Amino acid sequence: MPIGSLSDSVQYLKGVGPQRAKLLKKLGITSVEDSLYYLPYRYEDRSSIKNISRLAVNQRVSVRGRIASLELINVRNRKFSIFELTLTDGTGIVKAKWFNQPFMKKIFKRGQELFLNGIVKINKYHGVGYEMESPEYEFITDNADSFIHTTRIVPFYRTTSGLGQKTLRTIMYAVLHESLSIIHEFMPDDILERNALVRLDKAVMNAHFPETEGAGIESLNSGRSEFHRRLAFDELFIFQLGVAGIKRSISERRGISFVSRPSLTTNLIDSLPFKLTASQQKVMSDIFNDMEDSGPMNRLLQGDVGSGKTVVAVLAMLKAVECGYQAVLMVPTEILAQQHYFNITCLLKDINVNCMLVTSRTKEGNGSPDILIGTHALIQEGVAFDRLGLVVIDEQHRFGVRQRALLRKKGRNPDVLVMTATPIPRTLAMTLYGDLDHSRINELPPGRTPVETHVITESEKQKLYDLIKREVMSGGQVYVVYPLIEEDGNDALHSAELGCKALKQQLPEFRIGLVHGKMKPENRQEVMDDFNSGKIDILVSTTVIEVGVDVPNANVMIIVHAERFGLSQLHQLRGRVGRGKRKSFCVLLVYGNIAEVAEKRLMAMEKISDGFRIAEEDLMIRGPGDFFGTAQSGFPELRVADIIRDSHILEIAKKEASALLDRDPLLEKCPGLRSRVNSMWKGRVEFYKTV
Ligand code: ADP
Ligand code: MG
Repeated sequence: MPIGSLSDSVQYLKGVGPQRAKLLKKLGITSVEDSLYYLPYRYEDRSSIKNISRLAVNQRVSVRGRIASLELINVRNRKFSIFELTLTDGTGIVKAKWFNQPFMKKIFKRGQELFLNGIVKINKYHGVGYEMESPEYEFITDNADSFIHTTRIVPFYRTTSGLGQKTLRTIMYAVLHESLSIIHEFMPDDILERNALVRLDKAVMNAHFPETEGAGIESLNSGRSEFHRRLAFDELFIFQLGVAGIKRSISERRGISFVSRPSLTTNLIDSLPFKLTASQQKVMSDIFNDMEDSGPMNRLLQGDVGSGKTVVAVLAMLKAVECGYQAVLMVPTEILAQQHYFNITCLLKDINVNCMLVTSRTKEGNGSPDILIGTHALIQEGVAFDRLGLVVIDEQHRFGVRQRALLRKKGRNPDVLVMTATPIPRTLAMTLYGDLDHSRINELPPGRTPVETHVITESEKQKLYDLIKREVMSGGQVYVVYPLIEEDGNDALHSAELGCKALKQQLPEFRIGLVHGKMKPENRQEVMDDFNSGKIDILVSTTVIEVGVDVPNANVMIIVHAERFGLSQLHQLRGRVGRGKRKSFCVLLVYGNIAEVAEKRLMAMEKISDGFRIAEEDLMIRGPGDFFGTAQSGFPELRVADIIRDSHILEIAKKEASALLDRDPLLEKCPGLRSRVNSMWKGRVEFYKTV
């Protein structure tokens, strides 16, 4: 059946069928378009065809000839077999051998003409003449117009069991050939010209089956050929059009202008025990400007752990309140909600506002508070938002575009401020956060002490007890963080509960508390309060304290099984200390043999303290795939582009996308492009749907 459109299912294509369609689906290929963007992960240059008389040992070559003889040799009662054929091209003969594949005998016939491609060896048995072991073969028939497994630059795809490389390659070739006539150029000519991009059909064809002329094998294998560049550009460009579309559609809505005589905000600033840093003042004025403006604010506030984002958020919330609106602060965990509630009510003790904590256990009907602090429960439960004006989302990296949109719908275009303490590398910021305006707090409050970080192994544990003793005796407090709560049958994994017992035995003179995610929240809160007020010296915990917890007197962070934590998690945890006057320490305790990536993370922790550099490092170690395409984030997956390798393409694509939207805001003049945006974003960019 001929292909009608790129969205056709691959199942009905020649050589596919239901069985193979299932296997292709495992590879993420359901439509014809999917297959066009399922690029090879490597290429092999098999284009050199040699006369048999000119073969040289250990080279990969293609030869062309006729089968002169063939033979299946059974050895030792058929337990072992060799299938052998001899190929001649008039200049010499070469043998091809396949071990234990007796069925090969049925494939070949004497006199057939074919290509072989393989590595040339000296014939082991005779010690003279050449042979190839399990070469690729391809028959030369009258109607074959092209060879795809030999005599060319040959693509290799990631396969799945049940679908061999050769079969997949054959399918890909057929799909490409059948769809070539319906791959229509959708990119405006001026963009193609300005950026010296090859045309779409050429790029697609060559990214799979490169013409030998002009396609360097290295540039193909590194994903930097002109064909890859075109396809990566498309993907990033379409991604940016989506991001910009979301951004523009929000800024076009009518939002709230928060204007009134400042009262609560100035009261708070006057009552603070510290002066705002220059950086805090700068972001505060960005935020206040947005709030006073009539369009809805849609801003990302970045700042390293401990840079003082909370007070900025509180000032924004007070501004909303003094203008007669409600503000909410949404955070990812209950413990963080409680901690924020505790800190914020302290901060606001002399200011007349009504603050409320909302978690999954909150009963309804508490009037209409000015400030609500809570978890997801804020979006899910029937909390009354009669005057919702400002939404602040803390620790943004836990929420995606979906949740942002949900909260926005809770009010009539409320202002949205998202905050993150996981600094975002520039390339990610341009993609995953491209729909937001950006502000950054780039300094820490004065008097912060850098945290001295050490990786130690289990055998050096005594050092750790010494450190804890010394620091607690001189008035400090200690966090000990474990990756899991209970033994999961794995001896190597020390649980927080067992760890707590062991610590109590080792250090009976100290007061030790335990918190973990499975505790009743009331009990957990009690322990946290005791740690806050200094009644507990050492707090053993699981990662529940990862984000946001703020106890300035705590100065030692011990992370047990540090090799099991991600880099940004380690940085977050370390950010719990170094907040007070006391010198602070972070000890990364590791067990057993550590994987190479874990080693890289630990080394980065020892040498880097700046959150932005940590984030860049994290992106390099993990690769960008981790950040995209998770169902909950709502972002499309990138199939061709790699934002690290293609960061320069990303910059250009972003500029071109925004220039195009200035000329043609609804993409009315580029329907092909608009449908590409809708298909990549699965219709999530409402902006273009309205056309
Ligand atoms: P984060 O940015 O990680 O959320 P917080 O808002 O929790 O950081 O602030 C960390 C600590 O720094 C808090 O104890 C807060 O009171 C304090 N702090 C915030 N701003 C300043 C400042 N300008 N000067 C001194 N301390 C500050
Ligand atoms: Mg915070």
